[in-house]
Amino acid sequence: MRVSISGDRRWRAPVVAIAAFSAVLLVSPASAVTPAGGAAGQSVELNRLPDEEASVVEILLADSGELDELVATGVDLDHHVSRTEEGIVVHAVVTPNEVAALRARGYQVGDVLFRPTDSAERVAERDATIAAHKAENRAFTASLTAADTSDVKIIRADYYTSGTDQILSVEAKWAEGQNSTSTLTVVRDSGPGTALGSGGTQTISRFVDAGVYLYHRGASTVTTRPDRIQITSPTGGVAVAQVKEWLPIPADDPEGPGYQKDFVTSYLTPTELYERIHQLAAEFPDLAEVVELPYQTNGYRRKAQTVLGTTNANRVAVDSLAWGHEGGNEISVELVNPGAAGRPLSVSVTGKDIRVSLATNASGALTTTAAQVVAALNANAGSLVRAYTYRGDAGAGVVAATARTALTDGLKAPASVSRDPHPMYAIRIGKHRDGSRMGVLAYAQEHAREWVPPLVAIETAERLLRNYGHDGRTKQLVNNLDIWIAPSINPDGGHYSFYDYASQRKNMTNHCPLTDAADALGRNSWGVDNNRNYTEYSLFDGYSGASSSCTSGTYAGPSELSEPEDKNLDWLAQHKNIKFSMNLHSSGNYFMWSPGAYATPGRISAPRPTLAEESFFWGASSRILTAIKRHRNMAVTPARTGPISDVLYSAAGNSGDMLWYKYGIYAWNFEVGTSFQPAWAEAHQETMEFANGLVELMRVARDFDTDHQRPKSGLSVTASSTPGMVDVTFTVSEPAAVFYTVDGSAPTYSSTLYASAGIREGGETLTLPVGTKIHWFSVDAAGNVENNYRADGTGKNYQKGSAVLPTS
Ligand SMILES: [Zn+2]
Repeated sequence: MRVSISGDRRWRAPVVAIAAFSAVLLVSPASAVTPAGGAAGQSVELNRLPDEEASVVEILLADSGELDELVATGVDLDHHVSRTEEGIVVHAVVTPNEVAALRARGYQVGDVLFRPTDSAERVAERDATIAAHKAENRAFTASLTAADTSDVKIIRADYYTSGTDQILSVEAKWAEGQNSTSTLTVVRDSGPGTALGSGGTQTISRFVDAGVYLYHRGASTVTTRPDRIQITSPTGGVAVAQVKEWLPIPADDPEGPGYQKDFVTSYLTPTELYERIHQLAAEFPDLAEVVELPYQTNGYRRKAQTVLGTTNANRVAVDSLAWGHEGGNEISVELVNPGAAGRPLSVSVTGKDIRVSLATNASGALTTTAAQVVAALNANAGSLVRAYTYRGDAGAGVVAATARTALTDGLKAPASVSRDPHPMYAIRIGKHRDGSRMGVLAYAQEHAREWVPPLVAIETAERLLRNYGHDGRTKQLVNNLDIWIAPSINPDGGHYSFYDYASQRKNMTNHCPLTDAADALGRNSWGVDNNRNYTEYSLFDGYSGASSSCTSGTYAGPSELSEPEDKNLDWLAQHKNIKFSMNLHSSGNYFMWSPGAYATPGRISAPRPTLAEESFFWGASSRILTAIKRHRNMAVTPARTGPISDVLYSAAGNSGDMLWYKYGIYAWNFEVGTSFQPAWAEAHQETMEFANGLVELMRVARDFDTDHQRPKSGLSVTASSTPGMVDVTFTVSEPAAVFYTVDGSAPTYSSTLYASAGIREGGETLTLPVGTKIHWFSVDAAGNVENNYRADGTGKNYQKGSAVLPTS
């Protein structure tokens, strides 16, 4: 369905008319490009063979026309599109058989970037990390017992100031921390030589990750600088430590001194993600609650299945009626040669063992066809199983005898992972969670194999809650926003990705009919792409970048919002106070917004944002990207910032478009990092940097209401070491994006973006020929444009300057 914008949440801009394509195209000429039509085929039949493992490989394309055609094949694309001089490089998640099909159609396949063994290594690494933490805990406990000393140890005691606040941050490890949920009480003195207790007390709480206790941590404001602290554990152990002064941090850092972060130490399964937000809500009941979303998933479960036979004609597919874990996995079937001539086909059932005695002719040869076995099984064992011929085949092939074969759902997760329809949870953070405050929604893992984005969600929730007590700016956010964080939108697929099939993208629901890939050999291809099942500019509306094939990587589902996961996101978005959202994906280091879909041919885009809206997107983006860059200087490039359909590819029915077009929410999409399951050291860095960005979105939301100040900017020209050139930088009065031209034209949002992600680092230096005319404007995070300039190239009051040295 396509609906007009409700408009009620969008304050600064008029409603975009869906029919206004021509006017919209004037704003961004790039979208008017019509694909030339590449050499590659339009209808590649991609057929993922049973239980084939997929790798991430490069595919080299000539132009965006070829990209559109590739997307139309339903191939499972990573979120990575590099536009180079030579063409476009995309990353596809494909099996060897799919690679062969693509090659056969003329696609140029490049390097293999990620193999199934890489995922196995990540899991092994994660298990080793968790085991190491546990061993550390045991060693710690043992060392304490051996030395017959205290069972609690103070790791750090840091004092620092933040504005006018004085803060003490303490970390301590307690031998019972794994088993007991108790907090620890820290007793302070009030300076050198004073009595312990004279400076008051504070409590610190457990830091548990992936079910493993790491240590207790916490920070509180103090009224005087303590010199020593003491902790007495609930079991009577005593530890005393000297307080140290923490390094000063630059005053303009939005995190402020002593800001607590780094709360995730390994990848987390959906079960662990949900446990984590429950723990957080329990620890901060005044600030947070866990909300169970209204729809449960279909569950990490399948029917027990097998396929007997070797060719399409003689294969017999057998599915249990019961779910695998509810008895289906106990069923077995065998096809027996009676070993005598002239025997009829017969089926006997003993308990859950099904025995098919095949018919023989006068010379003792087997004569039963697959279709006959199917009919006999359904007639005689129909209370246990359903049998069918292979993918619609007539089943005329004669079947061979087979040994007893157990039906299985093939699911390998430990029993601690529920096989039932799974509840989905979000944590709601805010001092006032009644809809009266501006709402922000962050959600991750629509795509199962993307393991880093959920960690960004968790890290962000932890930062908001654990800094509330001592960081004034965090308190501002939590007091004034209503923040929803859903760490896993696709828990079934997420579990499947962790335990069974690392490259799983979709949910686990089988929508394939018995005549298609419903059988055991097709089940790694089942599922709906949760980011193609939404209601706006969808496949069902005729938009590009989603598939109607039940086995496609971008299968849109049988209808819009057919999937419980997507219904839940729709439910979240219906909270009328939500005005900002972040859809967390990986990978590619992108930062994107609507439109996210176009129709082909002609690249007829979903409506572009208005100028005012685009001002806001760009202005806020510069702040968010600056926060990301602050972590380790990783800059999301301007080429990877912008509307999804401009910088990536069309993605019909994606959630960002639903939030934007249906609900008027300023909806962004992160593509975190460089791969789905990077080694932990890298995953950790990505978590930290994109959590920076997500927290900054909260600050953007908070400032949005209050900031009506237009930014001011200036030009600074200094001498260059290159003859005939000068060095030019822009200065801005507040965090703002600067767009400029050096060819005398009026600047627009398509003009060069000054390295806004580096504002805090002083901005880039442009070395220009003396006398160059420079035209520019700036836009801040609330969408305020300098001088109220109309930035579509028709306005006149942009900033003007020349690359000449000031006269002194
Ligand atoms: Zn994704």
